[in-house]
Amino acid sequence: MAAGAPSVPFSTDFATDATEIQKNLEEKNKQYASSFDKGHLALPPAKKYLVVTCMDARIDPASAFGIDLGDAHVIRNAGGNARDALRSILISQHLLGTKEIVLVKHTGCGMLTFTNTDALSVVAQNAGVGVLQSTYDFQPFPDLEQAVKDDVAWLNGNAALIGKTISGWVYEVETGKTRRVV
Ligand SMILES: [Zn+2]
Repeated sequence: MAAGAPSVPFSTDFATDATEIQKNLEEKNKQYASSFDKGHLALPPAKKYLVVTCMDARIDPASAFGIDLGDAHVIRNAGGNARDALRSILISQHLLGTKEIVLVKHTGCGMLTFTNTDALSVVAQNAGVGVLQSTYDFQPFPDLEQAVKDDVAWLNGNAALIGKTISGWVYEVETGKTRRVV
């Protein structure tokens, strides 16, 4: 290695066996990094709040919910599930100083479309019977607004959480609009 060369140089050529997705990441990131100027941001979220929302590919939390880089934690999982997000919420609040929680579920959520029995049978079909316990709970929900209310109530009732400013919302994937539920 030539003197002065970085010890871990960035590759400028795509690996020959890279998938389209990997190539896309490398290519788009190169463009992104070329004009990146936010390297000075602090670790704790500047606006001291966190968002729990669904992993749904149609939701762009930064744009739809007005979150600038460095402002908030965004915790995503299937359904925007509060229980699933608890580990991250605890870290966000107790170790990184966030005070307010915004929970956003959405119309057309996959979690409205199956039952535990359905999901268990698909997993058994794909990966083998018994790989998951028959009591495994995917936490699907049949009623969107009720699920928002239930999650907010669950968060409010959780003694380990501090900063109980918690609101619940529904994002409409059809219109891009967000409405408050609780
Ligand atoms: Zn969803």
